[in-house]
Amino acid sequence: MKHRPYLTQIDQNIERPDPQAHTKAVFILHDQLNLSAWPKWVQKEKPLLIFIESEAKGKSRPYHKKKLIYVLSSMRHFASECSKQGFPVFYHSTVDHYDKALEKILEEHTGLNLIYMTPSEWNTRRRLSQLKNKFEDRCSEIRNNFFLADVNEYKENITKGYRMEFFYREIRKKTGYLMHENEPEGGEWNYDEQNRKKLTAKIDLPEIKKFEPDEITREVTDLVEKNFSDHFGSTKDFGLAVTRKQAQILLDEFIEKRLDQFGPYEDAMSVRGDTLFHSGLSVYLNNGLLLPQEICDKAQLAYENGKARLNSVEGLIRQIIGWREFVRIYYEAMMPEVRNANHFNSRNSLPEIYWTGDTNMNCMSECLRPVIQNGYSHHIQRLMVLSNFSNLTETDPAQLNEWFWLAYTDAYEWVVLPNVLGMSTYADGGVLASKPYIAGGNYINKMSDYCKECSYSIKEKTGENACPFNYLYWNFIDQNRDTMSSNGRSNFMVNMYDKKPDEEKKEIRESSIRFIENIKRM
Ligand SMILES: Cc1cc2nc3c(=O)[nH]c(=O)nc-3n(C[C@H](O)[C@H](O)[C@H](O)COP(=O)(O)OP(=O)(O)OC[C@H]3O[C@@H](n4cnc5c(N)ncnc54)[C@H](O)[C@@H]3O)c2cc1C
Ligand code: SF4
Repeated sequence: MKHRPYLTQIDQNIERPDPQAHTKAVFILHDQLNLSAWPKWVQKEKPLLIFIESEAKGKSRPYHKKKLIYVLSSMRHFASECSKQGFPVFYHSTVDHYDKALEKILEEHTGLNLIYMTPSEWNTRRRLSQLKNKFEDRCSEIRNNFFLADVNEYKENITKGYRMEFFYREIRKKTGYLMHENEPEGGEWNYDEQNRKKLTAKIDLPEIKKFEPDEITREVTDLVEKNFSDHFGSTKDFGLAVTRKQAQILLDEFIEKRLDQFGPYEDAMSVRGDTLFHSGLSVYLNNGLLLPQEICDKAQLAYENGKARLNSVEGLIRQIIGWREFVRIYYEAMMPEVRNANHFNSRNSLPEIYWTGDTNMNCMSECLRPVIQNGYSHHIQRLMVLSNFSNLTETDPAQLNEWFWLAYTDAYEWVVLPNVLGMSTYADGGVLASKPYIAGGNYINKMSDYCKECSYSIKEKTGENACPFNYLYWNFIDQNRDTMSSNGRSNFMVNMYDKKPDEEKKEIRESSIRFIENIKRM
């Protein structure tokens, strides 16, 4: 067989089958890597499995280099495991998009019928549905089984004020997690009141296991260095799990060493660590190496065995069966029009620091560093620092969305878009969230240790030395008072602003204009 550059390991591990010898083929996308989520007949009949690496998809935006390594390496490992289990595996690489490669395969092998699972991302779904239309009799689509909730059951409710909390209660009842008959464990649905502790120096942070890259990962790293050299981030020190077994080791480590403290420190931020007590598992959930049920099952068991407190386990289960499922339903309900949503009509380009991390604002630099290095930061850093700053500096939400999508290893449009355009920027005008997520320096100071080491003064409210979040926050409230007044909690802040002396209001406005005008943008 012809030597295929950067596919040596695949070609050594997998015997290349002749598609002509098969009548049934299953196309597995890079985020569908778990056979338990595929129909039982797939395991039983062992049809031809087709995997495709698409350079066009990889280059559709400058994805973080570590994301590319992760996606390609875990797909290659999964394909090799399927081959070891006796599946005939056709592993293909193309400069084009998936549908074009599949079209060619179907044209060349006229006896082949193709089955694929509904892609979770819109653009891929459209491409494959065009292919299905072209090969009507030979191409069929099956339901995406990587999520718990049925989209069609809830989709219609999204634009009618259906909030995550209602959805969560229904899913809790349906799945039975932390339920006693129809009542929630401990009597409450939500224990977030107990989940807002600041991390003190006394609290030890557990280490998180990293995996040494094997031959497959090393070959993929060379490929990324060669073909994607101008992409975001670096390939250095890649240590993610790339197989299901490795991801399960990380799940067990989280349950054993961090779950108990997950709840209390869920909103904390610190220069001492990037993941703190978070799971770091989204990257594995989002391509199927782990399934949502297994994380929730293990978390519930830890609670039942007295190894993790209720507010931690409930908090984690809510994120997974609540938020994660809810944003996916929101995506299905709101696409594609939501891509252009911009409630506040913010038109500034993304600040350059999102690419360089080079800033004197310690909170921004501490939240950008792990993203540039590893394509990860935890939820509160994403929401209350990185998105907050973008909102307050009147940045176009579509540009922020694009950045989150390319910069994070766990980002796929179905999850990043609702979180950015729905939750963090309020671009959809309140369909997902009841009020904009904005905060001043006081919040960041309360929840982190960032301000101690910052060049700006958290105590000063306006002027050159003042923490920019302090005045930008009040400026945003004033400039967007119509929206802010429409919600009881944020209306309170409008009233507080109105009570400020005129001189202070003038300084807030002047400091904000100066700061926003001087930002270097992309
Ligand atoms: C602006 C912004 C952008 C985001 N972009 C993404 C993204 O591209 N991909 C992504 O998976 N999550 C995204 N999130 C949600 C959340 O921040 C991440 O899921 C979480 O930080 C991942 O880290 P973790 O695994 O350590 O999470 P943990 O804190 O350990 O939470 C456990 C799990 O719950 C799920 N989860 C928690 N919150 C959410 C949420 N709001 N939406 C969906 N799932 C959630 C994740 O699967 C996560 O692994 C975003 C949030 C914001 C505010
Ligand atoms: S002082 Fe302001 S800019 Fe500096 S770390 Fe604190 S919140 Fe961030």
